Amino acid sequence: MVRLNEIRENEVAVTAPEPADAQLIFIGRISTPWTSRMETPRQGRPDGPICEIEIFEPWVQALAGIERFERLEVLYWLHQSRRDLVLQSPASSGKVHGTFALRSPVRPNPIGTSIVLLERVEGNRLFVRGLDCLDGTPLLDLKPDRTLFKPIAPPQPGDFQTGV
Ligand code: SAM
Repeated sequence: MVRLNEIRENEVAVTAPEPADAQLIFIGRISTPWTSRMETPRQGRPDGPICEIEIFEPWVQALAGIERFERLEVLYWLHQSRRDLVLQSPASSGKVHGTFALRSPVRPNPIGTSIVLLERVEGNRLFVRGLDCLDGTPLLDLKPDRTLFKPIAPPQPGDFQTGV
């Protein structure tokens, strides 16, 4: 895994197309204790430090009801990542793994996800534990943890479809 932007033995970078299509909107910003990628946890932990997620307008109203969920899924943009490696060497050992077989921040679309524990909500700010991103990381989305969420809309046929 690239922790900064170096290339290690046997790692392979490609000429990636200029990113242009997705047009994501950053809906907020995450404040954490970490300012260096070398010190940030590789995966968040439920007993990790409290981090703050700030939601920007006009999205603050979209927080309605979120306090009912003990755990949330957070999606964020790992904005300092390089995006061009297809083979990566997490241990810097020369042994490489395909990017899609890793949870490395280095990927064509550097989206990070974490399940966090929601401690409290104060206006447009959520206080959570379980993150692993740099201070100032842009926020892409928030959702209830899928294991806590029951669909509210009426059932539809695909819900019950099994097999081939
Ligand atoms: N939990 C997420 C996941 O599995 O999708 C992210 C895991 S990733 C291995 C976490 C690492 O990404 C951190 O240890 C740090 O090195 C790096 N990182 C964190 N925030 C970043 C950012 N904003 N830009 C680039 N790299 C970041």
